[in-house]
Amino acid sequence: MKITYDREACQGHNRCYMLAPELFDTEDEGYAILLVDGGVPAELEEKARLVADNCPEFAIEIEG
Ligand code: SF4
Repeated sequence: MKITYDREACQGHNRCYMLAPELFDTEDEGYAILLVDGGVPAELEEKARLVADNCPEFAIEIEG
């Protein structure tokens, strides 16, 4: 599974960080930082789906 994050679309709700701190951190201005480099570890795939489904700006996409 791959995960991508669109910084331009992100509005900084931090929902992704609250749901999956293993995958996302927040920068000083509140926008998300994707912590993994494209590939999602198998044990975090469920969380990756969760954050993609819950990002209100559709800034997170998963593939595979
Ligand atoms: S949930 Fe979406 S819009 Fe909100 S901080 Fe995360 S990536 Fe950005």
